[in-house]
Amino acid sequence: MFFSLSMCTICQSSPPTSFKRRTFDFLLKFLPKTLRTKLTAFLINYQQGKSFAFLIFVVGICAGSFMIVQQYMLGESKFVIPSISSKKNLVVKANVGFASKIMYILYFWQPISYMIAFLAKSHTKKEFESDPILNLSKRQKQCKACSHTVTKFDHHCIWISNCVAGGNQIQFIFFLLSTIIINSTHGVLCARFLIKAYSAPLVGYGSVQKAFGLKKGLKILFNSFTPVFAQVFMFAIISLALVPFCIGQILNVLQNKTTFERLKNQRLCLEILEGKKVLVDYKEIKDSKDATDGTVIEKVTAAKWLQKRNIYDQGWAKNIKEALEMALARK
Ligand SMILES: [Zn+2]
Repeated sequence: MFFSLSMCTICQSSPPTSFKRRTFDFLLKFLPKTLRTKLTAFLINYQQGKSFAFLIFVVGICAGSFMIVQQYMLGESKFVIPSISSKKNLVVKANVGFASKIMYILYFWQPISYMIAFLAKSHTKKEFESDPILNLSKRQKQCKACSHTVTKFDHHCIWISNCVAGGNQIQFIFFLLSTIIINSTHGVLCARFLIKAYSAPLVGYGSVQKAFGLKKGLKILFNSFTPVFAQVFMFAIISLALVPFCIGQILNVLQNKTTFERLKNQRLCLEILEGKKVLVDYKEIKDSKDATDGTVIEKVTAAKWLQKRNIYDQGWAKNIKEALEMALARK
């Protein structure tokens, strides 16, 4: 998963003329000609928005990583530890039992949740957008990255190669939650395996340490379980990095705000505090030259008020309902 996500970022952030694309071309020179032609064609196709090849690529990578993980971690995977008493190496079995069955479902779920977020269109139906009560037409914005005009634009996500907006906000949160659950479960299982390997009688690391001493024992442990250590580390980072982001997205739904609107609001607050803009009559922000039209509000009070202002908030229950309706009212 980590690998597939990294590849998505590399591909996505490499427009044809950019420095990164040139680096790519340079790296491609070292590959055999057939492979190079195929990869270049794939990159050009991908950059022109033909995402189907990309989708196959992602599914392939996910399936590949699933198989590797399965081989290493699940069922009866074997890790060899040098024997203490005899010259024959001993084997630790990574049988995680019931947990492995859950992991099977989770690993299949990961590419599915990814595809849901990847394929869900970010724009909503026209009739829905023009609904006078929901006030959605005012919240339209054209995305600079993919030039789609979407309602409730949040941000353009390079990982899913899609805009995150009203139409796919729920699907996106679902994908984030899935990724966090899968990665943290995987990390916990890997850690559990290490503890199991350490404490197993006769074959465990505890006995190895007793026989070889702490320094050599640690080296043996690390050499035998490098893939597992790497996975604990990698999956912990992925889960931890996504948690604050996911909380932010959930808050966006609960408060009926978008990341784009939050950032815009922050910028306005800053401009007010710097005296570049003036808030008039608690209603609108106008350029300072228009300030004579109304009463100018003191800048600190204005910024504080603006920070709290949320004209689209209808209470969390209605906000969730709106987000769900938008997710279902896609074009
Ligand atoms: Zn976009």
